[in-house]
Amino acid sequence: MYDPFVHASPGMGEPHTPSYWVDTAGLPPEDDSAVSGNLSADVVIIGGGYTGLSSALHLALEHGVKAVVLEANQSAWGCSGRNGSFSRISGGRVPLSKLIELHGEDVARQYFQEMKNGLDTVRGLIRDGAIACDVQPDGVYKVASKPEHVHALKREIALYNDVIGYPAKYVAENDVRRVHSGAEAFGAMHMPDGFAMHPLKLAWALHRMARSSGAVIHTSSPVIDWTSSSAGHKLVTPRGVVTARKVIVATNGYTSRELHPKTAGRVLPIHSQIIVTRPMSAQEKQDSLPGTDCMFDTRNLLFYYRRLPDDRILFGGRSAIHGRDAENPKHRESLHAALCRKFPALNGIQVDYNWGGWVAVGKSSLPFIYKVPDVKNVFSAGGYAGSGVSFSIQAGKRLAQMVCGGGNPTAVDFLHQVPQRFPFQHFLRVGQRVAYSWYRYKDARQ
Ligand SMILES: Cc1cc2nc3c(=O)[nH]c(=O)nc-3n(C[C@H](O)[C@H](O)[C@H](O)COP(=O)(O)OP(=O)(O)OC[C@H]3O[C@@H](n4cnc5c(N)ncnc54)[C@H](O)[C@@H]3O)c2cc1C
Repeated sequence: MYDPFVHASPGMGEPHTPSYWVDTAGLPPEDDSAVSGNLSADVVIIGGGYTGLSSALHLALEHGVKAVVLEANQSAWGCSGRNGSFSRISGGRVPLSKLIELHGEDVARQYFQEMKNGLDTVRGLIRDGAIACDVQPDGVYKVASKPEHVHALKREIALYNDVIGYPAKYVAENDVRRVHSGAEAFGAMHMPDGFAMHPLKLAWALHRMARSSGAVIHTSSPVIDWTSSSAGHKLVTPRGVVTARKVIVATNGYTSRELHPKTAGRVLPIHSQIIVTRPMSAQEKQDSLPGTDCMFDTRNLLFYYRRLPDDRILFGGRSAIHGRDAENPKHRESLHAALCRKFPALNGIQVDYNWGGWVAVGKSSLPFIYKVPDVKNVFSAGGYAGSGVSFSIQAGKRLAQMVCGGGNPTAVDFLHQVPQRFPFQHFLRVGQRVAYSWYRYKDARQ
């Protein structure tokens, strides 16, 4: 499997990794095939996931710019076609209390508003583009997986209510059981905004909309070399060279260290894995997830889960550290064991699908939308830390504004600062292994 820490590029024309989403998304959109020969464009976007596709779409719709997207494999081949399908008010992985401590209440409110804008942007695109992506009713639950977690959950709810002015509410254990039957649910925070949908249908719809608005989307076109001069940027793909005045780097968790020295080392790719069960019986559904809300728990190494429209359960969490270990069956088995612990009625349930992908975590665990330093006219966004469905689409819109307008498009300064590089990069995965062991110990003990 492609490992951004090890390989120079994610391949060329690789098919989508087999998944429930690929099997149920229908026909892929038409694209502009691989770059062939030399071409030039004002704006070139590297990476055809939500960030890149949304940049291309918003450049066309709001700024009249017809960008060229270069995607190494297929449209939405990375996280955007493989994710857990929760489109919610999220971006990064910093608890609200920590965000307030680090940046103050005003910035926390502004950042929350930007995350909410992200969700509204997704809703608007789905509405205006009449996108059929199996949108489920709104509802997000953060479930206390241990009784001791309830207190912290209530403190978090108080911050949402009092500082942000957002109507998160506490749901007591007995009421949680109506939507989360089984075990490991001792109370929950309910957020009224956020919904599950079909992530690949959404991505392919963004692709179609971008293309019909004038964007050109070349698949099977990895950027394998990049040189810059005062005249612009020369992006080399295996079958042709693309010259650009401005470049958006939208490769996020799939960014190899070789792509460009200025973007290297700014995210840690972390593998997240998903299993999907066989369809449940009516009784099994009743005894596990009767609703279709988005669920995640309070563990340090959290699990996220939902019921799919055909009554399967999608269940995900952190898994391998190295790409070479990602297909080890032990990761699937440990997710399966965790699913069965949470929902004893599903004990031994068959798993029909299993796949994973690289989420991008920045050093601050917060996303970034920035102008890359010391190189002319290069912009990038990413670092959503596994919570980027709506925020990456919002970031694409913001990147389009930045590319066209020059300034920072939001008042949230930290979003537009150059993300710090991780120090001691060769030891990062050793540190990750130690951190995972510590979190597993804490999750088991608390
Ligand atoms: C298993 C999993 C579950 C997740 N669940 C959720 C969830 O439920 N909710 C949520 O909010 N977020 C979730 N996420 C995160 C979310 O999917 C991502 O934040 C979002 O899709 C990021 O989109 P992106 O466009 O920035 O990156 P990606 O979709 O990863 O796209 C990057 C693209 O860049 C391309 N690329 C890389 N290098 C090159 C190159 N040299 N030349 C050309 N192309 C290149 C890659 O092929 C890839 O297609 C999940 C992620 C995973 C993996």
